[in-house]
Amino acid sequence: MNILIFGPNGSGKGTQGSLVKKKYNVAHIESGAIFREHIGGGTELGKKAKAFIDKGQLVPDDITIPMILATLKDKGKGGWLLDGFPRNIVQAQKLWEALSADNIKVDYVIEILLPRETAKNRIVGRRLCANDANHPNNIFIDAIKPNGDKCRVCGGDLKSRADDQDEAAIGVRHDIYYDTKEGTLAAAYFYKDLAAKGKTKYIELNGEGSIDSIKDTLLKQLA
Ligand code: AMP
Repeated sequence: MNILIFGPNGSGKGTQGSLVKKKYNVAHIESGAIFREHIGGGTELGKKAKAFIDKGQLVPDDITIPMILATLKDKGKGGWLLDGFPRNIVQAQKLWEALSADNIKVDYVIEILLPRETAKNRIVGRRLCANDANHPNNIFIDAIKPNGDKCRVCGGDLKSRADDQDEAAIGVRHDIYYDTKEGTLAAAYFYKDLAAKGKTKYIELNGEGSIDSIKDTLLKQLA
């Protein structure tokens, strides 16, 4: 099972993604997390990527595309959930070309829809668990409020991402996401067009519902 998930930062994409990952037991390949690992490990790739990430800009395609295609080959043999990639129209096309060349199908494409202002408020409240980045914590969302200053799932220490607290960086990220000509929504619509031709299945979810209602809607639509 191979799945792409789209949603603006702050849409609950990570939370829904971990549900999908559990249901199908596939590798969760998250471009942002791979970059953060490289930065933490002080690799050359991490050093190159950091300046772009800090500003909320996309890391250039000549770094990102080969990194993701190599990760899919390396870790994605039993199926994958790809999260955070593709993020622009070129990445969408290159991914489709690479998968088609290897006869690999995209079974589902999930898009979580959320207005830009709502997404921004949610990002500022987001907190990351030091033990597991998929433990959802957000000081502005009642259902996933942290336990004091600790992770609501495991009690781990919480921190916020520097690029989550910088309004200019959030603005840049959302400019890229909501760009329907070349940006991330253009990438999503590239796959929506393929779904209209019967080449994949496209699921749209309203990101303004509660986490549980989005989960239920999603699970009903997945085979
Ligand atoms: P995320 O964790 O998905 O919010 O990603 C954090 C940052 O990593 C983004 O703001 C970009 O700078 C970079 N990044 C993640 N995915 C991509 C991608 N597909 N293409 C280029 N840059 C990316």
